[in-house]
Amino acid sequence: MLVVMDAHASQEHIDAVCTVIAEMGFHANPMPGPTRTAIGITGNEGAIAEASRIKLLPGVRDVIRVTAPYKLVSREYRELNTVLDINGVLIGGQDIVVMAGPCSVESREQLFTTADAVRAAGATVLRGGAFKPRTSPYSFQGMGEEGLQLLAEARERTGMPVITEVMDTETVDLVAEYADILQLGARNMQNYALLKKVGRSRRPVMLKRGLSSTVKDWLLSAEYIMAEGNPAVILCERGIRTFDNHSRFTFDLSAVPILRELTHLPIIVDPSHATGRWQSVLPMARAGIASGADGLMIEVHPNPAFAVSDGEQSLLPERFADLMAQIERVAAAVDRPVAGRSTLAL
Ligand code: PEP
Ligand code: MN
Repeated sequence: MLVVMDAHASQEHIDAVCTVIAEMGFHANPMPGPTRTAIGITGNEGAIAEASRIKLLPGVRDVIRVTAPYKLVSREYRELNTVLDINGVLIGGQDIVVMAGPCSVESREQLFTTADAVRAAGATVLRGGAFKPRTSPYSFQGMGEEGLQLLAEARERTGMPVITEVMDTETVDLVAEYADILQLGARNMQNYALLKKVGRSRRPVMLKRGLSSTVKDWLLSAEYIMAEGNPAVILCERGIRTFDNHSRFTFDLSAVPILRELTHLPIIVDPSHATGRWQSVLPMARAGIASGADGLMIEVHPNPAFAVSDGEQSLLPERFADLMAQIERVAAAVDRPVAGRSTLAL
């Protein structure tokens, strides 16, 4: 249920409604808007019998039943897009944001070379995995805390906030010490203990879509994070499993306009993991921007042939620079600037 307050409702009115909701045994989630405050009610199963009582409280304009199974993430709850400010980088606003960097942090030199190159081309968030979810237990598992320290050094060096994956509940606090955004990987999208734990973290979370998850499953996972009190959630489409294997996964860009209708959360798309081949990354990055996404995640490596993970899909720095120039033109066609490009001396 959603309680819509009058435009002129006072803070006392809002507090009084929250108190009544709490007394009914539910949770009140006030959401101030540009013209009026709305208060989401969670913790109920089905319709609330006392809804008519809430409707009579001073300052209440309407009580609306939210039909979607997810509440806090839904557009019904919040009409305006959520815009996150990550150290001055706005995600979900008008500007397209590009997160780029290596799949895995491998060494100081590899990370710094890549970070400098992607920043010079206009990326505004640095990615790099320190804890890696690998299909095979015999593959490289990541540098761990040493990798996190290198990411923090790269942030100092370039000024770019960093995003890195957290794989289990035990390492959330450690990763949150270093990262500006916690990445929750596709393989963990329905790890409910982890979703709850990052929901209690103070860091924004980027939730990648599960390999075989529907949009509804995905939004319900985002709801877990928000229901624990963390409003800063970003969604990332990274390809799903279908019957065809011409590419590593099938990039489901048709989900983007659907998500736009269903949720207010920022939407990032990842053509690197979706396609698994560098030749497909540029065309699908262009398509991602055209589909209406708020940004991209792109893997870049100075020497892909020697990358310890995902070399086949990693772009050389010069190819990444070309991608940035091209997506800027596609972004212009959908009336959006690319963050980080306007300040470059091109
Ligand atoms: C990654 O970003 O390096 C990664 C492992 O992504 P995904 O969870 O989408 O496979
Ligand atoms: Mn990768």
